[in-house]
Amino acid sequence: MKVSKSKILLPLALCAVLLTRCGCDFFGTTGSLLISEDDESKLGAEFDTQLRTKDTANAYPIYVANTPERAQFRDYVTNLAKEILAKVPESGKPGYPFTFTIIDKNVENAFAVPGGYVYIYTGIISKMRNESELAGVLGHEIAHVTQHHYRDAMAKDAALSLLLQALLGNDAGKLTQLVASNFASLAQLKVSRDNESEADFYGTKYIGSVARNPLGIATLFARFPAGGPPSWLSTHPAPENRVEDVESEVDASATLKALAADSATLFRIRFEENTKVIPKT
Ligand SMILES: [Zn+2]
Repeated sequence: MKVSKSKILLPLALCAVLLTRCGCDFFGTTGSLLISEDDESKLGAEFDTQLRTKDTANAYPIYVANTPERAQFRDYVTNLAKEILAKVPESGKPGYPFTFTIIDKNVENAFAVPGGYVYIYTGIISKMRNESELAGVLGHEIAHVTQHHYRDAMAKDAALSLLLQALLGNDAGKLTQLVASNFASLAQLKVSRDNESEADFYGTKYIGSVARNPLGIATLFARFPAGGPPSWLSTHPAPENRVEDVESEVDASATLKALAADSATLFRIRFEENTKVIPKT
C-alpha cells in the first residue's frame, strides 16, 4: 500500500516536538528523518529570497560589489568558503549546493540557515587580522550546516515546527508566509553548546584541510574579552573552554600542529590586500 509522506511524518513531527519538551534527546536522530535535504533546500531558498527583498534591506543589507575593489573582496571571501567546502568529503556533507553571502553591516556575527545558506557580516571580518581567522569563521559555519545543527535547532523549536508542517505538506504559499513571520527566529537559530563544540571541532579540521592555520577560530575569539564577539555569543552559546578545546585538538594532531607552528599559514598579507575595503577595528 502506498502511503503519502505527509500522512506518516506529520504526526511524528508533532510527537517529536512533545518529546523534546520533556528534555528527551530522541529528536537529534529523528530530525534527520523528518526533514529531508530537499526540505532544507526549500526552506533555505525561501529564507534567502526574503532576505534579499526590500523589507529586510535595512536589517540584512547584501554587500554590493559595485567597484573592482569591492568585487575582489567579495570574491576573496566566497572563494575561500568554496575552497573549504570543496575539501569536505562528499560523505560528510549534504547533497545540496551551498550559497555564501556577505552582509554589509557592522555586526560581529555569521550565521546559516538550513539548506546551505551561509551569511557573514563585514563587521566580524573587520575584527580579523589574517586569512586563518576568516577561514575559522567560515569553517565553523560550514560545519554547522554539514552537521545539520540549524536544521535540528529549527526542528526543536515548537513555533518553528509549524514550518515543518508547511514543508512536509508541500504548501509553498504557507511556507512563504511562515518564513516571513518567523524570519528573525530563523536568522538567529540557537544551537546547543554541544553543537558549538562540534562546529569548532569540524571547523578546525576543515581549516587544516586547506592548509591555513588551524588556530584561526581560537585567535579570533581570544581577541574578545568574553571569549567571542557579543552578537556571535548571542547566537552561539559558547562553552567557557572553547579556545582551549581548539588548542587541544590542534595539539593532538601532528598535521594540525605543524600548520599551527608555521606563521606562513596565517596568510596575513594576502588577507590585508583582499580586505582593504573593510575598515579594521
Ligand atoms: Zn556556531
